[in-house]
Amino acid sequence: IKKIGVLTSGGDAPGMNAAIRSVVRTCAYHNIGCVGIYRGYQGMIEGDFKEMGPRSVNNIVNKGGTILKSARSREFMTPEGRKKAFDNIKKAEIDSLVVIGGDGSFTGAEVFNSEFDIPVIGIPGTIDNDIFGTSFTLGYDTALNTVIDVIDKIRDTASSHNRLFFVEVMGRDAGHIALNAGIGAGAEEILIPESDLGLERLLDSLKKSKLSGKSSSIVVIAEGDKIGKNVFELKDYVESNLPEYDVRVSVLGHMQRGGAPSCFDRVLASRLGVRAVETLLEGKSNFMVGILGDKITLTPLEQAIKGHSEIDRELLRVSEIMSI
Ligand code: ATP
Repeated sequence: IKKIGVLTSGGDAPGMNAAIRSVVRTCAYHNIGCVGIYRGYQGMIEGDFKEMGPRSVNNIVNKGGTILKSARSREFMTPEGRKKAFDNIKKAEIDSLVVIGGDGSFTGAEVFNSEFDIPVIGIPGTIDNDIFGTSFTLGYDTALNTVIDVIDKIRDTASSHNRLFFVEVMGRDAGHIALNAGIGAGAEEILIPESDLGLERLLDSLKKSKLSGKSSSIVVIAEGDKIGKNVFELKDYVESNLPEYDVRVSVLGHMQRGGAPSCFDRVLASRLGVRAVETLLEGKSNFMVGILGDKITLTPLEQAIKGHSEIDRELLRVSEIMSI
């Protein structure tokens, strides 16, 4: 291994910059070259590269987003696109890749490796925390903190007006953000894709909460919940069944992806970057670096892609107990 290419791909997440910095500086530490590849796989196809040294990543450990930009690339899904990408990285003398992204990006890395035998290592970067083989993905902790900050503010206005708020958070397939931020922000109910609460139970729970003397409530809803109504339909449904409730909806959206990474994400990114580069230097390929317990671990990319990251069901029980 003489020169590593690093790229960010798929949805951006806070902590990606800290991971880029870590990869670049670990390369410098081991006296090997490092090239930043812009706009994910699309930049590989277009040869959008920049040699990076330790000083080119000054002042980014604290920044959200990704200085290398991210993209989704349709062209990389085709053999012709990947051939162009290979020709470019060969010309630039890049002999291995660190891919920071989600499972789609890892799939791209695996396909590329199988065709051109370029060693690849993945670093999980996505706020959704939906990747098998790591308890935390980069950006997840920051997103949780962002969400609870906002819900705290919503609670102020909810309690001043005795209102019920439905707060929709990101998570099309995974309820990690909703479940953890919901508990952290003291939500009355949490609706996630992994568990269908059912409309009747939601109404019952809201009725009970009114009777128990609560003047305002927050319900946290993941985008992909299975209750069968979108958040605005749910508002109408609840208002027509429980006229005592004045419901407001807040869809948090992309703010959840932004902001300065938390200390946890910065430290995790630094650790994962070091391990990614050193794993390549050990002659290994097709692994994702992750964290399980307090240990940095390697999971075969294939497992990381195919495996499912389960939610902690005990948290559902904790949430239920907290909302008594
Ligand atoms: P997020 O979790 O934010 O969605 P992701 O990494 O899963 O991130 P995707 O859009 O699924 O994001 O994938 C990113 C890119 O990876 C795609 O735009 C494409 O270029 C590449 N990719 C995904 N799947 C494949 C595949 N089967 N073959 C080749 N390339 C792929």
